[in-house]
Amino acid sequence: MDLQNLLDDIVGDIQPFLGQGAAADYIPGLATVDTSQFGIAVATRGGEVYASGDATVPFSIQSISKVFTLALVLAGDDDSVWKRVFREPSGNPFNSLVQLEHEDGIPRNPFINAGALVVTDRLLSLTDGSAAEAVRSFMRDESGNPGIDSDAEVAASEARNSHRNASLAHFLASYGNLENPVDEVLDAYIAQCALAMSCTDLALAARFLATNGRRADGTAFLPASQTKRINAVMLTCGTYDAAGEFAYRVGLPGKSGVGGGVIAVVPNNCTICVWSPALDRSGNSVAGVAALDAFTTRSGWSIF
Ligand code: GLN
Repeated sequence: MDLQNLLDDIVGDIQPFLGQGAAADYIPGLATVDTSQFGIAVATRGGEVYASGDATVPFSIQSISKVFTLALVLAGDDDSVWKRVFREPSGNPFNSLVQLEHEDGIPRNPFINAGALVVTDRLLSLTDGSAAEAVRSFMRDESGNPGIDSDAEVAASEARNSHRNASLAHFLASYGNLENPVDEVLDAYIAQCALAMSCTDLALAARFLATNGRRADGTAFLPASQTKRINAVMLTCGTYDAAGEFAYRVGLPGKSGVGGGVIAVVPNNCTICVWSPALDRSGNSVAGVAALDAFTTRSGWSIF
């Protein structure tokens, strides 16, 4: 298959979707982005990159970072985090508060905000307080881009408007489900979400999910059984209350962020990252999901 041709075709076909939906505005630092942008990149398991559109423009990775914190925790800690977070789809928005009380402070899964706060808390403990730096350094190593960093303006903007995540964190703490002070967990979480990366960077950084846990330098990061599990949780929970629709349309494990990025994995084959900032009601990129739908339909690459 001519991957470059396919990506170029998708950039053309996706034009009618650009600007459908709206950029996230509950984090004011994300609201001013140009919503006519669209990028797509594929990184093969061997490390070749194919890209088209705005694939080298950095954007705010937001919740895509949750896949990487989970992977780093599983690499450092094996399975103890699963005592503190479930792995079932929530059927609720990513920042919902309601389920947490009914379920005694154990979040439904690691990709909704409550669950991601628990995972970041665990990573803080495992890294002596350097969780965000650990994610950043993993991203730099795997993408080969030493310029990757957290966008201080986006982070400050989220910090000023983080009442909902602060509520979730305090609630978790009230159930004894945080090991570190609420403020430190929130700071690390906001810093990991504010990492600015391009489609190319992210497709490369996520490649361990398509290589049974191998890092870019060939060393073992996670056992194959753990990457299988991360991919499974991405499929069932990675796009929140739209995970069923995403599985139906795309047929791959995926993880979205409110910056408009989505990563998807074809196990043993490649990773794909798409980006376009305008979101649907569930917080997933409209053009990004449409592009992944077109990619798997035309390539036939799906786990089903
Ligand atoms: N930082 C964002 C938040 O906590 C991430 C949400 C997302 O990308 N879905 O609200």
